[in-house]
Amino acid sequence: METRPVNPEAGSEDRTDTTLRPRRLEEMLGQAKVKEQLRIGITAARERSENLDHVLLSGPPGLGKTTLAHVIANEMEVELHATSGPLLDKPVDLAGIVTALGPRDVLFIDEIHRINREVEEYLYSAMEDFRIDILIDSGPTARSVTIDLERFTLVGATTRQGLLTAPMRARFGITANLDFYSTDELAEIIKRDARLLSFDVEQDGADEIARRSRGTARLAKRWLRRVRDYAQVEGDGVVNRNAAKAALEILKVDELGLDETDIRLLTTIIDRFAGGPVGVNNLAAAIGEEEDTITEVYEPYLIQQGFLKRTPRGRQAMPKAYQHLGRPLPPAGNTRGDQLGML
Ligand code: ADP
Repeated sequence: METRPVNPEAGSEDRTDTTLRPRRLEEMLGQAKVKEQLRIGITAARERSENLDHVLLSGPPGLGKTTLAHVIANEMEVELHATSGPLLDKPVDLAGIVTALGPRDVLFIDEIHRINREVEEYLYSAMEDFRIDILIDSGPTARSVTIDLERFTLVGATTRQGLLTAPMRARFGITANLDFYSTDELAEIIKRDARLLSFDVEQDGADEIARRSRGTARLAKRWLRRVRDYAQVEGDGVVNRNAAKAALEILKVDELGLDETDIRLLTTIIDRFAGGPVGVNNLAAAIGEEEDTITEVYEPYLIQQGFLKRTPRGRQAMPKAYQHLGRPLPPAGNTRGDQLGML
């Protein structure tokens, strides 16, 4: 069983993230509503010297759920213990972690929707009553022992709130949904990183990278590093609009931030499934991606931007997708069903 103790920077995507990851709420850009909600909760809990209520953070990958868990622990001045749903295989794995928690510590469980039912049952009593039953020995001497836990804060992160069971959701006192960042917010995140790494980025460069970052902080930071490399090797060292465009074209990120998989997904719906609706399982098979990856990683941004629609019968390409790919729009009302009917 892997536990990832307590170094707040453990598991970072990149070594430079140690300096770049916001450590306080006020250093986090954007997500105003979520920050306000947490600021109030944290201040109140601190004033009462209590643990913060359990927090559920949901939203697509790369928007700041892990960062927020660290920020919460920093603001509460407690330790963070991190694990993830798929690592909690058996109740004993969970018991090992929760019994090590200090008063008011944060237990961060990433991908909490992937936790199995048996472990979930144990988590309920840990969250609600701050105690856990452990089975000691086996066979005739087996007995169950109840262990009292410190009052801790569970911070759960999920890309799929809908997959959480209702009793699980009900045990979180604070639930917050992270939104995609605006281009302006991403440009600020980019400028902050450049400042911390002591290099210059011009405003038009920051804007161009921001526009191509799919509303996602992680991508904005990643593209900034690639553009900086490009500017250093192929340009005059200045991160500006031209460097951003050239570098991101090499990486096959288009002017709206769509990458090769986004484009393949939309093209496949339009060209092979007559614009849809097509079930996500068929789509996954057609483009060679996992269903979960489509649902959790690709689709949310395409839907938010109006390229794609989720319907009861599957995914459907929207006019904006036809325009972006240079395909003629289908006649109004012309769904796949209509077309098949015409054959
Ligand atoms: P998630 O857990 O939602 O997948 P992370 O918390 O790992 O996302 O964030 C991805 C990257 O983006 C990290 O490098 C983090 O430092 C950065 N990041 C996320 N949100 C912000 C923000 N609001 N301001 C600055 N950087 C951010």
